[in-house]
Amino acid sequence: MAKNVILFIGDGMGLSQISAAIYNQPGFSLERFPVIGFQSTAAADDLITDSAAAATAMATGQKTRNNAIGVDTLLQPLTTIFDVAKGQEMATGVLVTSTLVHATPAAFLAHQSSRSLYEQIASDFAASDVDMLIGGGRQYFDRRSSDDRVLTGELKARGVAVYDYFSNDIFRLNPKTETPFIYFTADNQPLPAFQGRDYLPAATELAINYLGKRSPQGFFLLVEGSQIDWSCHANQPESFFSEMEDFDQALKVALDFALRDKNTLVVVTADHETGGMALNPGSKHRRLSLAFTTNGHTGSMVPVFALGPGCELFRGIYENTAIFEKLKKVLESKEP
Ligand code: MG
Ligand code: ZN
Repeated sequence: MAKNVILFIGDGMGLSQISAAIYNQPGFSLERFPVIGFQSTAAADDLITDSAAAATAMATGQKTRNNAIGVDTLLQPLTTIFDVAKGQEMATGVLVTSTLVHATPAAFLAHQSSRSLYEQIASDFAASDVDMLIGGGRQYFDRRSSDDRVLTGELKARGVAVYDYFSNDIFRLNPKTETPFIYFTADNQPLPAFQGRDYLPAATELAINYLGKRSPQGFFLLVEGSQIDWSCHANQPESFFSEMEDFDQALKVALDFALRDKNTLVVVTADHETGGMALNPGSKHRRLSLAFTTNGHTGSMVPVFALGPGCELFRGIYENTAIFEKLKKVLESKEP
């Protein structure tokens, strides 16, 4: 099927979020996808999932309890879709607008009993064979309280290039294809989009260019719009719209690449809905009256959008664990 796979996760991006984004600004990239499905998001121990259990389900095909990162309900480590991609000798990358060690990206590369074990998750990242990491959270790699390890130093010693926003402008960064790299966008959490964070679209382009040259077997890239969730937890429409706009710009980059390349599957989904968002009576296009029922997550199913070779697998209604199965099928049935 597809040579390359790009998985976009809009954290907290349910159907109301997508409706609001499209009504607020028609021409949203998701309108260009030919295949739509729905996934139900429950965790093993709670109908209302958190980001850790939901990401673990999508990354590994196993339901787990809330808070768990890449482990099953007995806390045993699980094989992830990144392991499957590496088994196919594909290049792999992660690009997020939270810290790298935050629940969503963590579940794809780390195995820990709790999402709050940030330093242990960072150690798992450093031990992984991922080719490219872009996101915040440098402090968990090199100013740790649980041990004296300096993971950035260990990575450099292993030949991994380490960059950060202090000294390297990501818009000019041109990482060598022969070398794995990590780019820290912040010491802790990157800024919200409305406060000026703007790297996601450019970094998506950088990631596609870099990973595309890194392996003849193609690449698997995870991109997360991490802060859509936070804006909805805070019940803040303005912040929400700016996060969706940022996510859409990144999506456009990937979509344009996939349509040119014709050998890339793009899948866009969420881990759960956040805020119980509603488009209230009185709403007009571009003048929406958004309301929220909670500061937490809800149990609504979330949409799945797919485009490119293998996209038809994503039609229908299924559990979040099926995302792993479907992606695995695509990765394992590439043309020889
Ligand atoms: Mg997240
Ligand atoms: Zn959340």
